Amino acid sequence: MKPTDYSSFRRKLIDWYTLRARDLPWRRSFDPYQIWISEIMLQQTTVVAVIPYFERFLTRFPTVADLAAADESDVLRLWEGLGYYSRARNLHRAAKVIVEQHSGVFPSELDVLQSLPGVGRYTAGAIASFAFDQRAPIVEANTLRLYCRLIGYAGDPRSRDGQERLWAFAEEILPRKGSGRMNQALMELGATICSPRDPDCESCPVHSYCQAFRDGTQATIPLPKPKTVITEITEVSIAICMGSKFLLRKRTPNERWAGLWDFVRFEIEHASSRIDTAFVVGSVLDRTGLSVIMGPQIAEIKHAVTRYRITLKCFTADRVKGRLTSNEEWQWVKPAEFDDYPLSVTGRQFAERLKQNSVNDHARSKAGKTKKRSLEH
Ligand code: SF4
Repeated sequence: MKPTDYSSFRRKLIDWYTLRARDLPWRRSFDPYQIWISEIMLQQTTVVAVIPYFERFLTRFPTVADLAAADESDVLRLWEGLGYYSRARNLHRAAKVIVEQHSGVFPSELDVLQSLPGVGRYTAGAIASFAFDQRAPIVEANTLRLYCRLIGYAGDPRSRDGQERLWAFAEEILPRKGSGRMNQALMELGATICSPRDPDCESCPVHSYCQAFRDGTQATIPLPKPKTVITEITEVSIAICMGSKFLLRKRTPNERWAGLWDFVRFEIEHASSRIDTAFVVGSVLDRTGLSVIMGPQIAEIKHAVTRYRITLKCFTADRVKGRLTSNEEWQWVKPAEFDDYPLSVTGRQFAERLKQNSVNDHARSKAGKTKKRSLEH
């Protein structure tokens, strides 16, 4: 596309966007706080998954000051299930920075935005252009694919050269005024028409400007990422029981799902059949300071995290003796109180099973007592 085509390209795209834009909750506002929350949630996550989280989050924390004043565990609890929890921790940290260093006023300058925890070049550009209509370019997954095709870039878009070309194009294409709306339109086109597979070029409002369409190279542009090699691992999760309570542990800052609570959990040698009980009991003692007797396996959960495919075997165990080590945060928690703690997704699934079991046990013991009483009469 030649620079002389830019203004007709923009007109066609904006006309299409005006008619076809999806009505998304974060598009109804120019509030930088709401735009920021939505942009962070949308990283690596689909629009459909984000909508209910976005609405709940804003109901609970309607302003940046509310978010800054919250406990991190409340923020994580609301984030539970959305994944990539460092996003929630960074939001919380950045909210504190905005309140403490900017008197609660959301900054509009690109460099200040980019200095906030968790705000990269793309997110800063999105906030600056959507909320403040600054002429700030954006390149994220959808626009990266769109720009590659529009300019016919067949190299690696993640390379230094690719990034320079794409960011330069992202800036050139913006008008002097209305950059926020233009960026939204570009993202919408990338998300809904210029899809990774089988882009709907016939319906594309700007196909006459698209180099890949002209060359018939839409299927090979952009160059795909190298395939990730998947590693299979097996982990155990042990719900240690003392009386009617189970032991929860807060995950530490250098672990995945940092700040969330979980049962005692660790990797074991990958095996599809037998578990080495002596190894598990010894590992529990090393990690917690508690001697336990293993109970039954009550669930097996398969899930994927980045390049790992994990089989999680969930057991109960009874504490026999010992004191908890003091270098970790622990809590003995009744099943009815699990909802008060932010848990990993698999931790929540395990907790739900334990809750159900405890309800069933309670019902069984009540029925037993009733039967006993009626026999006595
Ligand atoms: Fe994408 Fe096709 Fe439109 Fe080009 S013509 S921008 S490949 S949808």
